[in-house]
Amino acid sequence: MPTYDYLCQECGYEFERFQSITAKPIRKCPECGSNSVKRLIGCGSGVIFRGTGFYQTDYRTESYKKGQSRHKESSAQQKGEEKTDTAKTNQTDKTQSESKKKTA
Ligand SMILES: [Zn+2]
Repeated sequence: MPTYDYLCQECGYEFERFQSITAKPIRKCPECGSNSVKRLIGCGSGVIFRGTGFYQTDYRTESYKKGQSRHKESSAQQKGEEKTDTAKTNQTDKTQSESKKKTA
């Protein structure tokens, strides 16, 4: 028998009830007596989501992220070095050729 979570929209009282699936959902609040109790969904399915499948995906994404970040770091460093190097050489080349032209 599944456990159902109920929430009273009138007074905010939350409670659980063991009920068969075919049983009618409770409407009357045991706290304030009003008929504005709603059944909350997701109690039974939450157990399924906490299964082994979740851990597998978690582990996979973590290792995947680690690999990605490592790759990103190395590639970013390489790119940065390349950029500064080429910029420097370009500048020196320009100034050298310019000064050569002027002198010549
Ligand atoms: Zn209530």
